[in-house]
Amino acid sequence: MATTIPAPTTLGASIRRDFPILQQENERGQRLSFLDSAASSQKPQVVIDAVSSYYAEENANIHRGVYTLSERATARYEEARQEVASFINAASPKECIFTRNTTEAINLVAQSWGRANVRNGDLIVITEMDHHSNIVPWQLLAEAVGAEIAAVGISDDGRLDLESLNRLLAREPKVVAFPHVSNALGTVNPAAEIIRRAKQAGATVLVDSAQGTPHLPVDVRALGADFLAFSGHKVLAPMGSGVLWGRLDLLQAMPPFLGGGGMIRKVEIGRSTWADVPARFEAGTPAVGDAVGLGAALRYLTRLDMAAVSAHEEALTRYALERLAELPGVTVFGPPAGEDHAGVISFTVEEIHPHDVASVLNGENVAVRAGHHCCQPLMARLGVVATTRASFSVYSDRDDVDRLAEAIMKAQRIFAA
Ligand code: PMP
Repeated sequence: MATTIPAPTTLGASIRRDFPILQQENERGQRLSFLDSAASSQKPQVVIDAVSSYYAEENANIHRGVYTLSERATARYEEARQEVASFINAASPKECIFTRNTTEAINLVAQSWGRANVRNGDLIVITEMDHHSNIVPWQLLAEAVGAEIAAVGISDDGRLDLESLNRLLAREPKVVAFPHVSNALGTVNPAAEIIRRAKQAGATVLVDSAQGTPHLPVDVRALGADFLAFSGHKVLAPMGSGVLWGRLDLLQAMPPFLGGGGMIRKVEIGRSTWADVPARFEAGTPAVGDAVGLGAALRYLTRLDMAAVSAHEEALTRYALERLAELPGVTVFGPPAGEDHAGVISFTVEEIHPHDVASVLNGENVAVRAGHHCCQPLMARLGVVATTRASFSVYSDRDDVDRLAEAIMKAQRIFAA
């Protein structure tokens, strides 16, 4: 039996009660406004409890033990896989491979599927707004096999240029890999449309949904992609949990990524044969406790309802963009408020370095990130070296946005003095 998850508090201010870490205040009695959820979200008590009771009551290595605890741990692990499959509407849990994070999931595809299918002279298409995790794995593949990489351009307001996509698709790329939602701009890309066009051009398509899955309802069957990757730690789950979803026929035809225990059918000194998927791609002892935590997090989000999560974050983003627009000297990057701007806001403040902005905000107990956000090509395109980024999750509220705006004004006062 899966751990029973109590119904979460509804979205909005009261949901903060579900997240113990948000109860802390700084030495000046200011509440914590955690606005770095795009980097990693906080965890509700139900997730912490699920991990804790797994270790307190059920922990054992899985799949190999012929004793009760091992069977129970195996059942918890496979239930979590089922939970992942339901959350993204996969056709089968076998299509869901546990990885450490999005980065590992993309490397798995690039190395396993890529080395088997991408040849000298083939074209790999990524985008100018990709995270380094969806750039470097393809570069490693391209270098190994002699393929070429080209990037879809973006418009000045941070949207993918679909004409530029079309021009690249005319060259019949082998792979199209793109971000569902930009971690640096908040742009929600028209994933279904991009996938449709890329498939029509004969490409295999990977969606980097590290920022899509936390903010939008994701239905892999409706999207029609071949692979989709996301990180557990951004969807309220423990660090160390991630997922690669892939179409079963593709996964079944792929060679292993890592070799070792758990992924084999038979090993002889000279050669080995492989287990079926998903075990083929889960070499070694997996992070069972983290997977259990991921299952609990996805149940919690399902009860909140991802459509409601998405609407909540969109409304909050709209409010934040309005508030920041009132501040002279603040430049916001990315699309204007609307359905294609998810809860990530990147900005610069005139005459103040993004790190200094973040540092003043930290003094007010407002946690944001500053830097290139692992998107150096995007920063180069925007003509900046860094931005300050505020990002939302289910527990973010208008008070967080007001505190952000007030802290920016404080930074402006300090640096004007
Ligand atoms: N892609 C995007 C769009 C991301 O935002 C991130 C995390 N910042 C990643 C990939 C990599 O995720 P992880 O570090 O969990 O592997």
